Amino acid sequence: MDFDLTQDQREIQALTREFARAEIDPHAAEWDREHHFPRELYGRLAELGLMGVCVPEEYGGGGADFLSYILVLEELSRADAGVGVTVAVHTSAATLPLLAYGTDEQKSRFVPPLARGEQLGAFALTEAEAGSDAGALRTRAEAAGDGWTITGAKQWITNGRHAGTFILFARTDPEIAGARGVSAFILDAEHVRVTRDEEKLGLNSSATNDIVVEGARIGRDRLLHEENRGFRVAMGTLDGGRIGIAAQALGIAQAGYEVAREYAAERRAFGHRIGDFQAIQHKLADMSMEIDATRLLVYRAAWLKQQGRRHTEEGAKAKLFASEMARRQTAEAIQILGGYGYTKEFPVERYYRDAKITEIYEGTSEIQRLVIARSILGMTERSLVVR
Ligand SMILES: Cc1cc2nc3c(=O)[nH]c(=O)nc-3n(C[C@H](O)[C@H](O)[C@H](O)COP(=O)(O)OP(=O)(O)OC[C@H]3O[C@@H](n4cnc5c(N)ncnc54)[C@H](O)[C@@H]3O)c2cc1C
Repeated sequence: MDFDLTQDQREIQALTREFARAEIDPHAAEWDREHHFPRELYGRLAELGLMGVCVPEEYGGGGADFLSYILVLEELSRADAGVGVTVAVHTSAATLPLLAYGTDEQKSRFVPPLARGEQLGAFALTEAEAGSDAGALRTRAEAAGDGWTITGAKQWITNGRHAGTFILFARTDPEIAGARGVSAFILDAEHVRVTRDEEKLGLNSSATNDIVVEGARIGRDRLLHEENRGFRVAMGTLDGGRIGIAAQALGIAQAGYEVAREYAAERRAFGHRIGDFQAIQHKLADMSMEIDATRLLVYRAAWLKQQGRRHTEEGAKAKLFASEMARRQTAEAIQILGGYGYTKEFPVERYYRDAKITEIYEGTSEIQRLVIARSILGMTERSLVVR
């Protein structure tokens, strides 16, 4: 076993950390307060090669490995989890499925603008009545000439307002209920109309949108993977995407821990630093231990994916543990800061709000437990299609 990062991984981690410290962290509170999507930031991340860091160079990416990308998400999320999810969805959920399932023509046409950060990507699966049960989706793709006409509404689409390319899931066979009649399509911004900007508990620097597709005509060149096999694309994408969300949760928890540790060394009560009290020491010890444990789970899942090995169970474990840990430990960070922790004077209340979403998207904690249980019980038949 080798627990060391490679030289390349360490350099990418240091580059992202330095950029996030200088260019993101100082603005994160304001972006949160103003619900500001920092569009210009993604151009600068692109200049550093961080909008397609794990995409092969021949498609305009940085050519680094998947763990390097996970390190990028961890560092970005440590400064601002909204920036983290914007890059995570753009990369894991839009760019990587094009690489994994696209034809050569689709890869050369759609991936370079995404990998170079000229466009943002989005992933449009969820609908008002199809969340965890994504197979219940109603968006229709009706055969028309040598292609399809797509009609439907999607909900809570990250990057929706700013994306140039959408991976969108629609029902191609109305006769087949559930997941089997669904296909994946590649749409452009002009096929989509944004109908709402969602207001959220946190993650306010990210865009979460309702969108509609109103009779968009597309050709066969827009079908990603095989007809009626779109769920394979969705599930395969989420298997990898979850590792990114786990890294996001890890970054948020790390940020909370650092603020709490510094505060404990300075704040005085009863004539002592609060860090001298065993109750506070135990909280910090638990935080540090759980963050360490999470990091091992997350990096292992990333390593397995990089090796091309199965990572469904390990990715779900990493995401489940990381997200619940981040929610728990950001709450503890607030507790260590006492009343100040509950105010906007310190960032820990933002970390707590941002951490909560990691238990919900890319599959709720309940669904992660189902994924893990199915794997450990050897239930290979996807009788229950879950995300
Ligand atoms: C900020 C944000 C960004 C998002 N970004 C995207 C995006 O970019 N693209 C996209 O497609 N979607 C996105 N989503 C949607 C997200 O993936 C879903 O919200 C999530 O999958 C859960 O679906 P749901 O909200 O409909 O909850 P539901 O499926 O209605 O679940 C409600 C509750 O029931 C539980 N539950 C459901 N089924 C089961 C079961 N079989 N067993 C046990 N418990 C169960 C759930 O765990 C949950 O606790 C986003 C959501 C948010 C809030």
